[in-house]
Amino acid sequence: MFLNDLRRAFPNANMKFNEPLKHYTYTETGGPADVLIFPQTADEIMALVRFANKAHEPVLVLGNSSNVIISDEGVYGVVLMLTDMDYIEFDGLDIKAGAGSRIIDVSLQAGERSLTGLEFACGIPGSTGGAVYMNAGAYDGEISEVLVEIDVVSRRAVSTH
Ligand SMILES: Cc1cc2nc3c(=O)[nH]c(=O)nc-3n(C[C@H](O)[C@H](O)[C@H](O)COP(=O)(O)OP(=O)(O)OC[C@H]3O[C@@H](n4cnc5c(N)ncnc54)[C@H](O)[C@@H]3O)c2cc1C
Repeated sequence: MFLNDLRRAFPNANMKFNEPLKHYTYTETGGPADVLIFPQTADEIMALVRFANKAHEPVLVLGNSSNVIISDEGVYGVVLMLTDMDYIEFDGLDIKAGAGSRIIDVSLQAGERSLTGLEFACGIPGSTGGAVYMNAGAYDGEISEVLVEIDVVSRRAVSTH
């Protein structure tokens, strides 16, 4: 019922039902998500979270899935995988990166432009959003030291209750 309603409400969303997560995780393990969605924008995420809230369905956010072990039984509810939100933009000394961009790519592209500070991230196989969530770090550097600003979608902020 919820899944049918979801499909109807978001006809253009990149959405897969009963999709095995082992195809996406770093460890190549993990059972199916009831529904796996690849949002393209923050607005789409907000609308999807609002919809899931209304139906009291759980939401799991994933980036590059390099720091999760998904049960063989899979994941109940909605899984949002942000890997399509992978833009990386440069403006002088500032970098604006989508949650789904690979932090390795951000690090490498910064280096190509002679921007320093993200060298530590050149081997971390996560997304930028995942790196922020985990405060990823290596070689005495970590994301919190270079992060200036983030846009956050919180489940409570889009709650309808
Ligand atoms: C070979 C290998 C080497 C690694 N080396 C390092 C290292 O040197 N340093 C280090 O710190 N880590 C390292 N890691 C761990 C991992 O890469 C990092 O924790 C990385 O930041 C996880 O990002 P991800 O996108 O893969 O997150 P995921 O595995 O997809 O998710 C991890 C957690 O973050 C949450 N999350 C992900 N994206 C978002 C988002 N956009 N918004 C809100 N929550 C989100 C998820 O819900 C989950 O709870 C390594 C992992 C591997 C497999």
